[in-house]
Amino acid sequence: MKTIIIGGGLTGLAAAYRMLKDGVSDVTILERDSDPGGMAASYHIGDYHIEKYYHHIFASDRELIGLIADLGLGGDLQWLKGTTGYHINGKIYPMNTPLELLRSPLSIMDLIRLARVVFTIKGAKESPALDNITAKEWILNNAGNSLYERFFEPLLRSKFGNSHDKVSAAWLFGRIRIRSNRSASGEKLGYLRGGFYRLIAGLTESITGMGGEIVTDCEVSEVAIENGRAGGVVAEGYGYLESDAVISTVSPHALSRVLPGVSDIPYQGTACALFGMDEPLMDKLYWLNIKSDVPFGAVVEH
Ligand SMILES: Cc1cc2nc3c(=O)[nH]c(=O)nc-3n(C[C@H](O)[C@H](O)[C@H](O)COP(=O)(O)OP(=O)(O)OC[C@H]3O[C@@H](n4cnc5c(N)ncnc54)[C@H](O)[C@@H]3O)c2cc1C
Repeated sequence: MKTIIIGGGLTGLAAAYRMLKDGVSDVTILERDSDPGGMAASYHIGDYHIEKYYHHIFASDRELIGLIADLGLGGDLQWLKGTTGYHINGKIYPMNTPLELLRSPLSIMDLIRLARVVFTIKGAKESPALDNITAKEWILNNAGNSLYERFFEPLLRSKFGNSHDKVSAAWLFGRIRIRSNRSASGEKLGYLRGGFYRLIAGLTESITGMGGEIVTDCEVSEVAIENGRAGGVVAEGYGYLESDAVISTVSPHALSRVLPGVSDIPYQGTACALFGMDEPLMDKLYWLNIKSDVPFGAVVEH
């Protein structure tokens, strides 16, 4: 049975890895870029690798942690203090420990409201109703205007730009729940020694080692449908490639361009500038949120 996987990002690589491990033979990944990895790919300078986009993982990412262990990289997964801060009116406020929170520009009442929001969300059951209310509405209803304007709105703006007030409450709940590995000294975030490049390289080696194929510089332009099912794909420079099954791991937005009938979903673009520095930029901070009139929402220092 021949399976074609569209996209060689983490999802496509993980799908191929699992299938080959489960004994499915003849698995081919078709990747548009020159290297696999997708959004989790890295830049390389000699032997040095750095993610194109900052990446860390959370303690609740059990599938990913299992995959890292499966590849024999578990011993290199480090749990580092993910210290965060807020840049407000020209000043940096670290916001990790209870004392730092008390020293922040948030009032005591807003801190109590923030704690209540976190505990409410962590204790709440999942509900489809959250899809029908925006994060903004939920915060305003449950915590009031002051906490929204001073704390949540700048974060939503930096992540979603002009769509900051359209994001659903389901996203907010998911986001707060995932950040669970927190103690009195702050949050622990997972990072692979040597970078997530090693995860992509480990998957790539395992896939090819088990007989799978990864074809790069190969853009799928059409999914061929025969008798109501995918019978293959058309790829730039390769023509028609027949298969018994096609797995798409590209975004619905990208899929809608190659498979008519798939409804498009609006996506939020993001620009991420990467600088190599000779010396540290921030004092003991990993992540700085910005609530100032500058054209970027955060500074992340690896
Ligand atoms: C700035 C930024 C920071 C992030 N930080 C984190 C983080 O800290 N922790 C975390 O868990 N996640 C983070 N993410 C999200 C994470 O990177 C993604 O969830 C993950 O990489 C998605 O993998 P994927 O394989 O599903 O999609 P993608 O990585 O998008 O892979 C899809 C692949 O399909 C290819 N493709 C598209 N169209 C075609 C076509 N027509 N033919 C062939 N190939 C095609 C693309 O080139 C791409 O390689 C971050 C993302 C960004 C942008």
